[in-house]
Amino acid sequence: MKNSNAFHLHVAAAVANRFGRRPSRLSRRTRFQRAQAHSGQARSLRTRTGKMPISRLLASLLFVFAALASAQAKLKVVATLPDFASLAREIGGDKIDVTVMAKPTEDPHFVDARPSFVVSMRSADVLIDGGAELELGWLPPLLQNARNPKIEIGKPGRVQASQGIRLMNVPTNVTRAAGDVHALGNPHFMSDPIIAKAVAQHIAQALSAVDPANAAFYEANYKRFEATINAKLQEWGAALLPFKGQNVVAYHDSWPYFAHRFGLNIDIFLEPKPGIPPSPSHLAEVIAQMKAQKIKAIIVEPFHDRKIAEKVANATGAKVVDFSQFPGGLPGTDNYVKLIDTLVSRLAAALK
Ligand SMILES: [Zn+2]
Repeated sequence: MKNSNAFHLHVAAAVANRFGRRPSRLSRRTRFQRAQAHSGQARSLRTRTGKMPISRLLASLLFVFAALASAQAKLKVVATLPDFASLAREIGGDKIDVTVMAKPTEDPHFVDARPSFVVSMRSADVLIDGGAELELGWLPPLLQNARNPKIEIGKPGRVQASQGIRLMNVPTNVTRAAGDVHALGNPHFMSDPIIAKAVAQHIAQALSAVDPANAAFYEANYKRFEATINAKLQEWGAALLPFKGQNVVAYHDSWPYFAHRFGLNIDIFLEPKPGIPPSPSHLAEVIAQMKAQKIKAIIVEPFHDRKIAEKVANATGAKVVDFSQFPGGLPGTDNYVKLIDTLVSRLAAALK
C-alpha cells in the first residue's frame, strides 16, 4: 500500500508523453447559435424601440442577446471522473451541463485522452478533478492545451475534490529525489459516502461562486444530497455490520476508504504492488493468506483481469465480487447513491 503513490507518479511519467504530442486540431465554438435561438424575442423588442437609429438599435440588440445568452446559458461543468460528474448533477440539476472525461468502466489511472476533452475544458466554467494525483497521468497535458484561466487552480471555477480531505496511506518516505513531491496519499477516496458529502459541498460552493444568481438552488440541492446520504449511511452501515472486522481481498488498492467507513479490512491485493500485474508467486501467497483467514470475497473492477480473480476464487472457495468506483460502472448504478447501494448489497451477499 505504501507504494501506491509512487505508482501513481510512475504511471504519470510513463504516459504523459503520449498525450503531450497530440496535434491540436480543435475548433472554437461560437455562441452565435444560442443567440439566434432568441430571435423571436429580438423582433418584439424592435417594435418597442421605435425611432432609435439603426446603429444604436443593433448595438442594443447585441447587448440584449449577450445578456439573454448569459442569463439562460447553463454552466459548463467538466468532470474528470464519473463520480465527480454524478455529484455535480445532484447539485447543479438543470442549471448545468456536465461533461465527463473518463468512462465509468475505464481505469482512472490510464484514461484515454481525446481531443474533445481539450475542447470541453477550453469552454468550461467549472472543472472538477480529484486533486490527489489519480489523474496525474493524463490530465495535466490536457489542461495545458485548454489554456482556460477560469479553471486554473485557485480560481472559483476549479474544484479539487480532495481539498480539505484527510487522505489515507500518505507515504512517510517522500523524497524529492524520487520525484515524490506530490505524493498525497491514496486518491480513491470517493467510496466513502461521508467524503462524498464533503465533495458535494465543495461543488455547491464552487457553483454558487461562479453563478451567484442560483446559489440558493445549489445550496438546497446540497442539503437534499446530504440528507439522503445521512439516511443511507444508517442503511449501509446496518447491512455491513454483521461482517465488521472481516478481511476482503481486492485486485487493486482502491478501497481503503470504503473499508474504513464500514469496518472492513481490505488490505490484501492480487497486485503485488499497485499497478503491477499479479505474479504466480504473489498469487500463491494470497491464496495461502485467504485460506488461513477464511476470506470469502475478492473485489474486482471492470478494467481488471477477472480470470485471475476467478482462479484465486476457485482455489480458495471465495466469491468474485464485481465492484466499481464509478456510477455507471455496474448495471443499475447511474448515480452515486445507487452505486454505493449496489456495492454494499453485493458485498454483503458475498460475505454471508
Ligand atoms: Zn490506484
